[in-house]
Amino acid sequence: MKILVANLGSTSFKYRLFDMETEEQLARGGIDRIGEDADSNCDVEIGTHSSEQQQRISDHAAAVQMCLDQLTDPEFGCLESVDEVTAIGFKAVFAGKLSGIRLVNDKLLEAMENLADVAPAHNPPYVRAMRQLQASFPNIPLVAALETAFHETIPAKYRTYAIPSEWTEKYEVRRWGFHGASHRYIGTRMAQLLDNDDAKIISCHLGGSSSVCAMRGGESQSTSMGMTPQSGLPQNNRVGDFDPFALRLVKRLTGKDYDELLDELSSQGGLLGISGVSNDCRDIEEAAANGNGKAQLAIDVYAADIKRYAGQYLAVLNGADAIVFTGGIGENSDVIRTKVCEEMTYAGIVLHAEKNQQRGGERLISADESKVQIWTVPTNEELVVARQTAELVEC
Ligand code: ADP
Repeated sequence: MKILVANLGSTSFKYRLFDMETEEQLARGGIDRIGEDADSNCDVEIGTHSSEQQQRISDHAAAVQMCLDQLTDPEFGCLESVDEVTAIGFKAVFAGKLSGIRLVNDKLLEAMENLADVAPAHNPPYVRAMRQLQASFPNIPLVAALETAFHETIPAKYRTYAIPSEWTEKYEVRRWGFHGASHRYIGTRMAQLLDNDDAKIISCHLGGSSSVCAMRGGESQSTSMGMTPQSGLPQNNRVGDFDPFALRLVKRLTGKDYDELLDELSSQGGLLGISGVSNDCRDIEEAAANGNGKAQLAIDVYAADIKRYAGQYLAVLNGADAIVFTGGIGENSDVIRTKVCEEMTYAGIVLHAEKNQQRGGERLISADESKVQIWTVPTNEELVVARQTAELVEC
């Protein structure tokens, strides 16, 4: 069985094709700047073949068509026909109580559309692409693996906001949690690496979007993202946790309405907002190294927030077996890892300075005397979605 997994951003499309008999990744590709007034970068790797080209891609349907053309290319493709794809799985973000792993149908698409205002960077591109794909490939089942599904195990005491209970019960305002596929992968992989099915893990997924998750026995116990992916840690350009009452003041002082202010918080906030430099951690680290104070502050705030959540989760789990860093920043930034782990000796957490400098792959980076292991582990959200998609279509 071959499963295609689609990972969409507002202007990007990444895919991987898996053979589920062996879980071998047959192909991967990525297309960015979709729908923009510029050429997209279109990368593909199929077996030993890899290529990059620039081409204008008008929308997500065109991106998917390009992906299918690449996969069926007579010269280097790995499929004879698109019919070999059993299903397409989506790492979809938010459909409220329609969580879990489910076939894409009108009910789900409507739920995602209705929640577009609380997940503005995520839901609209998924709904658009899913509708386009339904029309173009009516015979291929589409499956949504909702990011919130993994967090259904969080106890009520950690998912309930202190708000009027009617908001919780009637409007489902609660901590839903996101990055489910990534944290699930880390939980499963760490159980193997530690040879412990009941391991207590603090998983730090740090990338364009970031979240921390406390897990025990591979199940989510608490996580930093709440009702929406704008919450929790500072994100690349989204705000993270924030006191909503400050909005009244800024509204009065700027004359902007609440929608404008929320749009600003979800596009001009986060690391970009504090640093004023970029939404990319690499640029911010470079600016900080060159003496830019705001860039340094962005790094300090981000790392301090990760540390604060890690501290909370040591309390939630009554200690931890391992802290794991994953995602583009988690895997690559020794600067952030150092700042998160410094002054954690009270909990027996000691980073190995040299091992922390090395890059790539699964690595144990704690000092020998550290009571809590520290790891970097590349996540594989797509494999999790492929497994879940295969399970659903097999039933
Ligand atoms: P997404 O959440 O969009 O999938 P990724 O997990 O790919 O994001 O992470 C992207 C982020 O990783 C980039 O914004 C960049 O800031 C960060 N990153 C990548 N390489 C490095 C590096 N060497 N040092 C610091 N940050 C890095």
